[in-house]
Order: sequence, then C-alpha cells, then structure tokens
Amino acid sequence: MLNDDKMKEKMKEKIIKFDPANNIQDLQYFGEYGGVNPSISDSSTYTFLSAKTMFDTFEGNANGCYLYSRHTTPSNLYLGEALAAMEGTETANVSATGMGAITSAILQLCKAGDHIVSSRTIYGGTYAFLKNFASRLNIQTTFVDITRLDLVEAAISSESKILYCESVSNPLLELADIKNLAILAKKNGLKLLVDNTFSPMTISPAKLGADLVLHSLTKFINGSSDTMGGVICADQDFIDSIRNVNDGTGMLLGSSMDSLRAASILKNMRTLHIRMKQHSKNAMYLAQKFEELGLKTVYPGLASHPSHHLFTEMMNEEYGYGGILTIDAGSLDKANELMELMQERNLGYLAVSLGFYKTLFSAPGTSTSSEIPKEEQKEMGLSDGLIRFSIGLDNDIERTYQMMRECMIDVGVIKPTYVLN
Ligand code: PLP
Repeated sequence: MLNDDKMKEKMKEKIIKFDPANNIQDLQYFGEYGGVNPSISDSSTYTFLSAKTMFDTFEGNANGCYLYSRHTTPSNLYLGEALAAMEGTETANVSATGMGAITSAILQLCKAGDHIVSSRTIYGGTYAFLKNFASRLNIQTTFVDITRLDLVEAAISSESKILYCESVSNPLLELADIKNLAILAKKNGLKLLVDNTFSPMTISPAKLGADLVLHSLTKFINGSSDTMGGVICADQDFIDSIRNVNDGTGMLLGSSMDSLRAASILKNMRTLHIRMKQHSKNAMYLAQKFEELGLKTVYPGLASHPSHHLFTEMMNEEYGYGGILTIDAGSLDKANELMELMQERNLGYLAVSLGFYKTLFSAPGTSTSSEIPKEEQKEMGLSDGLIRFSIGLDNDIERTYQMMRECMIDVGVIKPTYVLN
C-alpha cells in the first residue's frame, strides 16, 4: 500500500507527465459568433486603422496584427499552436509542405561555407536537397550512420551548424538516439533538427533535447491523404527569425500554407491520438505475424529490431511503436507482383506516403528513395525487394492478415503451410 505522501507524489507525476494528446485536448478556441471551431481567416491581406500600426507590423513590433497571408494568418497560428503543444515547444510555423518546412529551417540556419552532418537514411527528397541543392549554395553535407555516435562525432567540423536526422528513418526504420545526439550537438555548438514525421505522439524529440522538430503534416498528422503541409516546431526566437520580412526563409521563399488547409488539418489533429494507437496496434499485429511466417520484417516494436530497447526508452508508451513496417519480398519483381495483387484484392493502395486509413505500400528503392544512388542504397541496406507498409486503421486486422498471407502464397513470397487437425 502507498502511504498518503507517496500517493500524492504519484498523482502529481501523472498530472505533470507530458502527454501530446492532453496538450491538444486542453486547447480552447472560440470562433467568431461563439463557434466551437475557430473561424477561418478567408483573406490574403489585412487592413490597419492607422498607417503607423502598419509600419510597426512590418517591423515586427505590433503583436496581434496581421499584414499579409504569406507572413502568417490567424488560422495558421491556431494550427501552429496545436502542433507546438503536441511537441512541447514554445511555438511553431506551418508551411505548405513538409519539404517547405525542412528547406526553410535548414536555409535559415546555414550560409555558404557551412556544413551539415546528416543521417544517411532519411527521406529521399531531403537527401536530394542536401546532396544536390544545398551543395550548389556551398553548404556541404556529410552523411553518416546515425546509430553510430562515434561516426557522428567524427564527422563534425568547425564549419558544422546542423545535426540532422529523422526520429524513425524513412524507409529503413533506423532509430536516432535523440538524447545523446542532443548532448553531442550542444557540446559542439550545433542545432539538432529532428524530422518526426514517422512518429508523431509516439516520440517527442524536443522533450529529449532536439532544437527544432519538423513534420510533413501530409502524413499521419492530417491522416486523410487529401492535403499537404509541414511544420517547424521551435522556440519563439527561431520562429520570429523565419518570419522576418527582411531575411526570413518562411517569409521570402514562399512555402506558406493556405488558411483553408490549416483549418482542415487542425480538425483532423483532434483524432490523431486515436488513429496513432490503432495504426500501432495493427502494425504490431502484422509485424509479429509476418516475422512468424519467416519474412525478414523490420518494425521497432519487434524484439528483433536493433533499436527496440531504445525506442521503448524514448516512447510515449500508450501510442505504441508506430504504423510503419517493412518486409523484404526477395526481389523487386516479387515485391511489385505482391503489391499489385494486394491492391487488386483491396487490401490497400500501391502508393507512396503514409498515415492513411487504408494500408499504403511501395518499394522505396524505386520510389521515395530513388534519389539515393543505387550503390549507396545497397550500402545502407536498402534492398530491391523491400516493401514499406503504412498500416491502415483496419478494424479486423486478423482478416487483413489472412488475406495478405494468401497474396504472399499466391505470388510465391512464402510457401503454403498446411495445418493438420
Ligand atoms: N519527411 C519525411 C520523413 C517524409 O517521408 C516526407 C515525404 O514523404 C517528407 C519529409 C516531405 O514531406 P512533403 O511531401 O509533405 O513535402
């Protein structure tokens, strides 16, 4: 039995425990005329009652005033605040796409001559930006195995400004040890940027020491595959800097989000915690079953995942190990055959992206990671037959499994087994 003091202590711990879903639930917005949803700001420009206030707003000295929707809008601020609450950062800035958030964060922090240390297993678009585009601006990147802290440290030079990674990497599901990477970044004066697209709610990078948390809202956070979006969650100073009318990447590069989209994403965010739990539950079930079938299966919830314990240490437990898993079908031809059959039998869609209510599957080597040269794909363990699954919200996952197993037998990815009664 716990005595009174211990009980009180436990209650206090529970109350102050960081919970992304509670933080979103606790937001209270009123719309114009008392609506339960905030009103959508359906304007690209805003009036001022005095010319002086307009000048002050451009100088960044007039709180609560809006100047032009590329800068920000009331609807974008509501969504940004919900995302900041979810990640536990001071504030946030939303953008039209995930790449819009990633590129404006990086370009705000780096100038010609600077250097970036990045995980080598990241989304293909981010990889291509760092390798082919940032290098044109004389910002060079060293790509490293992010699971090896010794290699990360060795890659840091006096020009390094950013340490970049994904909490759970796309598509190999490698895990970044965010706490120790943050220590390394601080020690060397770097900013730690973490793309948390694969693990909203399950991992809270800012709580583990990340300076900036990035998302493609296009994926789990919006969850209905009907819009694009991105966000940078950070401290007020950084967000102010990217909104600066003179040299802010958010303001000047033009990847601003439209208010109608901000309003629709905010509404979808309210069910994110329920969706994440169901994605995780279904993915765990399938990963265990696929592994039992003898398939090479990668899922952070499996004890066989090299960073299973690290994930368990870092996670907000109740949201599970996420909705993404991979299997190796043996060859690209087999992977393609299996995906086409699964789509034909209505088990999901042969499509890139993640976080939809239906399962999505694709072969990253020839799609989302095709920007990574073949020999580098091989080196990092990205095989031709790899299929990435974003597991859906299926109510009866056992039925789904049986149907997927049938498909695997029919294309010869696994051998049929007969159960004797
Ligand atoms: N980050 C990750 C991990 C992604 O998977 C993606 C897209 O697939 C992005 C960023 C880019 O986001 P968007 O497509 O919204 O620009």
